[in-house]
Amino acid sequence: MSDCVFCKIIHDEIPSAKVYEDEHVLAFMDITQVTKGHTLVIPKVHKKDIFELTPEISRNLFEAVPKIANAIKKQFQPVGLNLINNNGEQAGQTVFHYHIHIIPRYGKGDGFG
Ligand code: 5GP
Ligand code: ZN
Repeated sequence: MSDCVFCKIIHDEIPSAKVYEDEHVLAFMDITQVTKGHTLVIPKVHKKDIFELTPEISRNLFEAVPKIANAIKKQFQPVGLNLINNNGEQAGQTVFHYHIHIIPRYGKGDGFG
């Protein structure tokens, strides 16, 4: 989708700090780091939200998520980690290309939650 910021990231039309990539999935650092290592995981096909995902897209995403979580754990050494996915404006979605937030947690006062 030509006016989608995440599609532009996929096609390297705007820069991002990529942390993982395979045929179907891309992960990159969120521009607003709510905690250190805050990462977004997206399918390479443009799907607006969870309601548009096919089983195959979901499988590809969730095959990649634990690998990405482990890489984040290794690099940033959090004590925990949240997966968050907002669907719809009322649920806090601001970019309408499906994405999963991986938010590393560092204990009390880490700035999130
Ligand atoms: P949402 O609120 O839709 O769940 O999350 C969208 C996320 O995308 C936000 O956390 C926001 O910081 C991030 N974001 C928006 N534009 C960009 C961008 O151009 N680059 C990166 N890396 N993240 C972005
Ligand atoms: Zn898109």
